[in-house]
Amino acid sequence: MEKTIKTKRKSLSKELQFRIFNRDGWLCCWCKKPVIFPPVMKFLELELRNAGNEQPLAYYHGHWTRDGAPLLDELGAVIDHVEAFSKGGPCTEENLCTACCKCNGRKSSALLEKWTGREKRRPVKGKYGEPQHWDGLSLLFVVLAKRNLDALTSGEREWLVALSH
Ligand SMILES: [Zn+2]
Repeated sequence: MEKTIKTKRKSLSKELQFRIFNRDGWLCCWCKKPVIFPPVMKFLELELRNAGNEQPLAYYHGHWTRDGAPLLDELGAVIDHVEAFSKGGPCTEENLCTACCKCNGRKSSALLEKWTGREKRRPVKGKYGEPQHWDGLSLLFVVLAKRNLDALTSGEREWLVALSH
């Protein structure tokens, strides 16, 4: 395991991000809500367009705005640093976790001690246990992306490769 603390932010590989989402069961590590793999929403919208629907849809927006993509504004999956990167937290797998867009926005670069002491979303607890098979709709992304290969951006192509392993 690498011990050096990186001083420059390195973009995380999609394989690593996918591994962490899977490790965490696609649940936000802070509030335990199920998260959604964001690109899938774009392809759900595309499917509806392809089926001839022309009315405005708020499935996907590039900036996950509440008006344009309310589901992503709440539950879009992001990788969070347990100990903030700006405070020296390393980019190791143990210091990375799955977060929903809302918790990620609230935590921002707060120190972990401050964050855990602050008011945050109350963790969800299931009466019948935690979901064991939630996948953030990532498998649906693979199916829909393969059906619309011409519409993929280079980043989405990389996601498709990472998710197909
Ligand atoms: Zn959350």
